[in-house]
Amino acid sequence: MGRSLLDLRFLQVICALRKSRLYERRLSDIYGKCYKQKITIDSELHTVMKLRTLLHEGLHLAYPNWSEKRVVATEKEIWRRITARQVEKLARIYRRIKGAA
Ligand SMILES: [Zn+2]
Repeated sequence: MGRSLLDLRFLQVICALRKSRLYERRLSDIYGKCYKQKITIDSELHTVMKLRTLLHEGLHLAYPNWSEKRVVATEKEIWRRITARQVEKLARIYRRIKGAA
C-alpha cells in the first residue's frame, strides 16, 4: 500500500472516530471492541496498545463491510509506517472521545 493510500485510510479513521464514544473497562480476552459508534478498550492496556487498538476499532467504524482479516492487515500496515504526528493525532482523539467511566 502506498503512502498516500495509508494516509487516506488514516484520515478516514480519524473522521469515523470523531463521531464515536470511547469507554475503558476491563476486558478479559480481547483488546477492544466496537458496536455502532461505541468503542470499548481494555483499561489495563499500555498507552501505546490503547492507541493501536483505537486505530483498529476506528478501521471497523470507517470500513464497516471489511473483514476482520482486512482490518488487521491494514492496521498492521498503517502502524508499521505511522508518523509521530499521526500518533499524536490518535492520542488527542482518544482523550477527546473518552466518556466518563
Ligand atoms: Zn477487529
